[in-house]
Formats: sequence, C-alpha cells, structure tokens
Amino acid sequence: MFNFLNLCYPNVCGVCEKICNEYICNKCRAKIKQYKKSDVNEYINNKNFNMYAYIFIYDGIIRKKIIKYKFLNSPYLYKFFSNIILDDLKLVDYIKNFDIIIPVPIHKKRKKKRGYNQSELIAKEISKKLKIQLQLNVLYKNVNNSPQSTLNQEQRKYNTKDVYILKNKELIKNKNILIFDDIYTTGNTVNECSKIIRNAQVNNIGVLTIAKD
Ligand SMILES: [Zn+2]
Repeated sequence: MFNFLNLCYPNVCGVCEKICNEYICNKCRAKIKQYKKSDVNEYINNKNFNMYAYIFIYDGIIRKKIIKYKFLNSPYLYKFFSNIILDDLKLVDYIKNFDIIIPVPIHKKRKKKRGYNQSELIAKEISKKLKIQLQLNVLYKNVNNSPQSTLNQEQRKYNTKDVYILKNKELIKNKNILIFDDIYTTGNTVNECSKIIRNAQVNNIGVLTIAKD
C-alpha cells in the first residue's frame, strides 16, 4: 500500500540515496552522465504522435532506479526524476510546446495495489513547475493487462490494443498534448494512447519518457 512517509523522506540523492541537499550528489551526477541523452525528435513518421523526447538510455543504474521506482514502493523517487527533467533546458523547451500534460494511466486496481502511478507523480511535478495543465480526467485504462515488461515484442503489440478509453474529450480539444510515460521500448503504449487522444481533435501530440530502451 501507499506509504505516505515515503513522500516525506529527508532530502537524499536520488541515485545513491545518501543524505544530500540536492536531488543528486556530485558523485552520482558524474556517474549517470553516460546514460543521459536528452534527445528530442521532431517530425516523427508512422506514429500517432508528432514529437518524441527522452532523457536516459534504459540501462545500468538508471534501469535499476526506474525498476525500484515502479515496483518497490519508492514513490519518493519522483523527485529525482522530475528534477532531472526540469534542470534540462532542452527538455524544458520541448515541454513548453504543449498546453496539457497527460501521464499514461494505469488500471485503478493496479494503482490501488501499488499505491501510486509513477508517471502521474512526475507529470504532476512538471505541471506545477512549468505551469502546464495536468489532465487526469481524459485518458483511462480500461483493462488490467499484463505489464509490457513481461512480454515479447509481438505480444506487446496486442497487449496495448483497446485497453485505453477517452472521456471528457472537450477538455483537450484543439490543445497541444504531451503524453508522459516512464519507459519507451517499442512505443506501443504511447502510440496507442496517442491514437485514442487523436479522437478528441487535438492539435499536436508529443511524447516524453524518462528512458528509452
Ligand atoms: Zn549520490
């Protein structure tokens, strides 16, 4: 279950988790440099979204941290991931192209079990700091499917099909939408979310993830 104390943790470095005044210590900042890409891709073809950006390569310590954040009751790590995004001028510039940020939803049963939606915590922070609207009432996950990480490439394609639904589409009509997710592997999840969101007659859709596999 959700552990509220985890959010009130003392300030620690998000990587080594030692007490630290900043979200990352100097030693770890150097250590994660090799995984940091801050890659922004515009004009994406053959996808339901137009732009895509990510911060890290999904490997090494970053991979371990994301797994911990997602699966090991560590909601406090949202601070590390959101700060690293907000400190990156290239990514901040990219995010400013959008009016609304929508985190990829998880099924309500999974959210209850995990206690939090890892993408939502980060999107909320980005929304607050960059003053772009957080929208949680439009995209819903209707089916509690298997986690993508447990499936092969072929299974992933079908696993995400028709699992998301759109509600209150007037809330995002004619807006530029940024979809936020944790990991980009085949892109099936964000592509499926974009397809659903397109039905609301939005302008551009962009995608931002923490890492790319
Ligand atoms: Zn550290």
